[in-house]
Amino acid sequence: MHAIFDTSITYLKGVGPHKADLLAKELGIRTYRDLLVYFPFRYVDKSKIYKIKEVTTDATYFLLKGRITNLQAVGDKRTKYIKAQLVDDSGSIELLWFKGLRWIKNRFEPGKEYLVFGKPSVYKNMFNFVHPEIDDVPDEQSGALTNRLEGIYHSSEKLKNAGMGSRGISKLIKTLLTATAGQLLENLPDNFIKRYGLLDHKTAMLNIHFPANPEIINKAILRLKFEELFFLQLELLLQKKILKNKAQGQVFERVGEKFNTFFKDYLPFELTGAQKRVIREIRGDLRTGKQMNRLLQGDVGSGKTLVALMSMLIAIDNGFQATFMAPTEILATQHYNTLRQILGDMNVSVELLTGSTKATKRKQLHEDLQQGRLDILVGTHALIEDTVKFSKLGFVVIDEQHRFGVAQRAKLWKKNKIPPHVLVMTATPIPRTLAMTLYGNLDISIIDELPPGRKPVKTLHFFESKRLRVIGFMRDQIQKGRQIYVVYPLISESEKMDLKNLMDGYENMLRDFPEPEYQVSVVHGKMKPDVKAFEMKRFTDGITNILVATTVIEVGVDVPNASVMIIENAERFGLSQLHQLRGRVGRGADQSWCILMSGNKLSNEGRKRLEIMVSTTDGFKIAEADLKLRGPGDIQGTRQSGMLDLHLANLAKDGDLIAKTRKIAAEILEDDPRLQKEENRRLNLEIRRRFKDKTLWARIS
Ligand code: ADP
Ligand code: MG
Repeated sequence: MHAIFDTSITYLKGVGPHKADLLAKELGIRTYRDLLVYFPFRYVDKSKIYKIKEVTTDATYFLLKGRITNLQAVGDKRTKYIKAQLVDDSGSIELLWFKGLRWIKNRFEPGKEYLVFGKPSVYKNMFNFVHPEIDDVPDEQSGALTNRLEGIYHSSEKLKNAGMGSRGISKLIKTLLTATAGQLLENLPDNFIKRYGLLDHKTAMLNIHFPANPEIINKAILRLKFEELFFLQLELLLQKKILKNKAQGQVFERVGEKFNTFFKDYLPFELTGAQKRVIREIRGDLRTGKQMNRLLQGDVGSGKTLVALMSMLIAIDNGFQATFMAPTEILATQHYNTLRQILGDMNVSVELLTGSTKATKRKQLHEDLQQGRLDILVGTHALIEDTVKFSKLGFVVIDEQHRFGVAQRAKLWKKNKIPPHVLVMTATPIPRTLAMTLYGNLDISIIDELPPGRKPVKTLHFFESKRLRVIGFMRDQIQKGRQIYVVYPLISESEKMDLKNLMDGYENMLRDFPEPEYQVSVVHGKMKPDVKAFEMKRFTDGITNILVATTVIEVGVDVPNASVMIIENAERFGLSQLHQLRGRVGRGADQSWCILMSGNKLSNEGRKRLEIMVSTTDGFKIAEADLKLRGPGDIQGTRQSGMLDLHLANLAKDGDLIAKTRKIAAEILEDDPRLQKEENRRLNLEIRRRFKDKTLWARIS
């Protein structure tokens, strides 16, 4: 496309500084291009002209043709409204205006025919049109931009008052297209357009705004959607290549003694097929001499920790250190304990660094780290601090990636001259097609298999009125020696209320489960870390039967004996959070339960979420459903993105097209990695134009 589309909208005929200001503020339209890609959200069909006697309440809109007669201002001193009759050879109908009266008064030439488009309403058993649209009858020869299918554009009250309701916007777009149609240059290679049966760019642009016929609308939308997604995928794949080629990485050639010893003598169980595959993928990366940037997706309980550990052992076998960062202190502690336990008496040194590590211990850690006496350092954000210096950092594991900002993470790999390999693990599955876009510039590994012998968690939904039954069930489970989580929502805006809720719930729990027969722990974010740790430990050690908590336990806690998860006000949680919480149970051999408690009044969406949770335990299915319910806008990271300003494509609904365009983009780059061939000249130009100022927001290094 041409530079003309970068022109400020102020210069468009019919747009002065005031309107330009409104367009920018209300719709973000600042340039010709912004207006060009401001697409209609639906169309009204004005292709058929009806007779006045055919008007009914069956259809919402009618287009009529006739003469306007009997125009009268009604009202005493000031005109209150204007009425007129529209007459054709079949009858007449009343037209009414309550606004813009002065203009209407002199608008019509007597005896001339007009097109009148409106929605009939009934008054005293007669039809009338209030504020109909009136047009001159077009000259048959007037050409492509006159037609009777009209695009409807979103507008706003302020814009409407400035004459830029849907029709006003449509007029501006017509002005724009008339002035610039010659500059709507094709951006895809010609053979492409043929091969994929697409409209050409210009035809698509003209017809999406002013369709020549109903059939062409979908073709125009498809072509422009294709364009959006194709260039996005092409850019992501290019970035991925550039990242790979630029980022020099440590070469880990050896799978050495520690890895092998662990595999032979310490591994407590057989690896699942998926774990083996992912470890192979990681090993492959580590040998290449390029820095690894890998996202590891796997449902809760799929065994990501073990994959992380074995990868770290490869680093250690090659003389490097590794670090494992978790988002919370509880989780970091848990990982630390798990690693120590699995490693047993193996000769691998592991330490923990968090905000509450004591100064003397911290000093010792820093020293050991710099002297290379420490192999693995587990921790929280504390790891990022400048005082933490490694002697030879080669591998970084980040658990639950969405909680760390990009800048924070970047500090980690500055801790070595050659950046360490990075494995980011997330237990929030992202639908494949969305991942292709959100993380399209990373390598992705997926663990899509749970360790054998797991019984799926049974999920039930109860309204508050069934509380007694639930309490009975809890007693029963405790009798059988099981432990129970009870989780309350804690959402920042209403924190005080939520905290009260939690404490009330805790007191009720103490009443229903009195000491000494029962023991109840409570954990929430406002507690001192040592108190929190103490309460957690009582639960993990099996001393307390019930843990009442906020979502601080959401990520990663592993207590196999806990087999019941009760979620209070479950309707207030999002799907992925519910899924995470449910993942805390079902880790042992016993049947586990997830009980969703809710108030009687549920929003439609709230009810759907609970239904989905009851119907499946598959994290990827839940992620798909979540994407459909919420749209991609809220999914982590999408908002930071400057690259994802899609106008037509919908990441939730256009999965097939995303996959198809990615495949096509990959084929092109396979054949012409830097888009230098003559046949790809247009692609090269377009990609530079589209992404020149956009940041690489999904980078992890
Ligand atoms: P997540 O992917 O949620 O981090 P974890 O790594 O915490 O999962 O593993 C969940 C549980 O499954 C742990 O108790 C772990 O020891 C166990 N586990 C991991 N891999 C296997 C396997 N291949 N066979 C049996 N149990 C496994
Ligand atoms: Mg985990």
